[in-house]
Amino acid sequence: MIQLGGNILTLFPNNSTAVINGRNVRLPGRVSFERSVYDVDQKTLSKLVDLLGRPRPKIMIDPGHGGNDIGARGVRNLEKNVNLLQARAIRDALAARGYEVAMTRDKDVAVSLEQRVEMASRYDVLISVHHNAATNTHVDGIETFAPRSDRKMSAESSRLAFMVQNSIVSTLRENDRGTKSGGYKVLESSSNVAILIECGFITTPSGERRIENAKRRTKLAKAVADAVDHFLK
Ligand SMILES: [Zn+2]
Repeated sequence: MIQLGGNILTLFPNNSTAVINGRNVRLPGRVSFERSVYDVDQKTLSKLVDLLGRPRPKIMIDPGHGGNDIGARGVRNLEKNVNLLQARAIRDALAARGYEVAMTRDKDVAVSLEQRVEMASRYDVLISVHHNAATNTHVDGIETFAPRSDRKMSAESSRLAFMVQNSIVSTLRENDRGTKSGGYKVLESSSNVAILIECGFITTPSGERRIENAKRRTKLAKAVADAVDHFLK
């Protein structure tokens, strides 16, 4: 494994595949490895330089609510806290793949909608992380939102929302509430690709138990990172 300017490159002896920031890449030629030295032909070197020289997409993760704004409330958890835990897991999964990732908040503070949108404006993708609530405590499942269809970047955002939703429900095997559009100001105000994930119902007893599970949090984060990888390819 070689670290180059924030990129992580893995080469395999006598193989024409490499892994760059967690993504498999096919190379024009094989990588040779003799006496502890990696060697590649000119064409392969050019390809590697090209791939490593590309600007890395920048992603803003936005944990919903914070501070006085607690969001929804479960029996044991407040939405603002579980949003932050899930958002950190998504940040870590994306950072491990070489993306430049930041968060609109990384502690329990209030952040205005305007501040969230302003922070995200310098990033290629905004992913807002929430948990759902319903008065009916049997309602359960995951849903992902994109901006209204007349908004900037709505088609691209819908495509990402669809990929993220499918990746999460097929990984976690939980109820699929589908991809929806509209209803969230943070998405409508964004000028970039923007989605909002409702990662489960905090108001449903079984849902709240699942949300508390750290393994599920990591799995969900990986599913989001897989979808983002596909989307940006
Ligand atoms: Zn929320």
